[in-house]
Amino acid sequence: MSNKIKAYAAKDVAKQFEPFEYDAGELGNEQVDIKVHSCGICHSDLSMLNNDWDMTEYPFVGGHEAVGEIIAVGENTKGVKIGDKVGLGWNSGSCGYCEHCISGYQIMCRELEQTIVSRHGGFADKVRCHWSWAIKLPDELDMLKAGPLFCGGITVFNPFYQYDVKPTDKVGVIGIGGLGHLALKFADKWGCEVTAFSSNPEKTEELKNMGADHVVNSRSDEELEDLRGNFDLILSTVNVSLNWEAYLQTLAPKGRLHLLGATLEPLELMTFSIIQQKSVSSTATGSPIVVRKMLEFCARHDIETVTEVFPMSKINDAFEHLKSGKARYRIVLENDF
Ligand SMILES: [Zn+2]
Ligand SMILES: [Zn+2]
Repeated sequence: MSNKIKAYAAKDVAKQFEPFEYDAGELGNEQVDIKVHSCGICHSDLSMLNNDWDMTEYPFVGGHEAVGEIIAVGENTKGVKIGDKVGLGWNSGSCGYCEHCISGYQIMCRELEQTIVSRHGGFADKVRCHWSWAIKLPDELDMLKAGPLFCGGITVFNPFYQYDVKPTDKVGVIGIGGLGHLALKFADKWGCEVTAFSSNPEKTEELKNMGADHVVNSRSDEELEDLRGNFDLILSTVNVSLNWEAYLQTLAPKGRLHLLGATLEPLELMTFSIIQQKSVSSTATGSPIVVRKMLEFCARHDIETVTEVFPMSKINDAFEHLKSGKARYRIVLENDF
């Protein structure tokens, strides 16, 4: 089989994507090739395109919310076979033998391979990864809506799993976009009382349909003040600095403010704001076992991403749409190579 991959690449910082072909080389013994059906666009693809994190190599092929079909397997792969429908997220490989890998926390592996860092991602006709990061899709899931679960989805699902969130907990979600709208759905089906913080009152009905019990104006100091001591968990999905002190005040004792957006400014916190055993924490995506649990959870509770679909050949239009902030709620590129 040919190791040539057709993709869309940006040749330099913040440039448009152009058709690009590369040779992926011999398939590794433990690797698989996935024929991309579709791939979501995550805000991190834009950050990487713009080299915001100082780790982008050009030509840059983004795309780390890919779903598709396994079309080639190395001889030592396990648990996946040709024809399987799978998804691939931010991570595409890990060592498999370190302390973190063998305890099911591959996400913390020091040799973690990232799908769009120093290698090429899913805005392509094919994408390659280690077998352990090609996670099988349950039959119930719609492939065109499943891609965003592999980065946006797992990012907001992982905290529920890691911190043993209880169905009796009160959960707030800040920023209702690609990640936030999935966080509302997960929190609702987990059984929690769910509050959406939104700066757009026009979205209220829509957010309630997604599972929010309450919608609070995130720009209103009075509304925040009324929620003093209320939340067990607040998930923030925004990548700008907010008045974190005000949000910490809305936490109940032992409550947690969990930051999922990559805010680049330092956090300013007063010890007194967290003195009642409150926590501030952060996680990124999730390990394969948690991705599997999330997919099962989605299949069981009919959780779907709200998507807008563009053909992959319209990738530049799709990125303009993302930048406009008007995406409702996650953009997916459908392979039309
Ligand atoms: Zn992402
Ligand atoms: Zn490892």
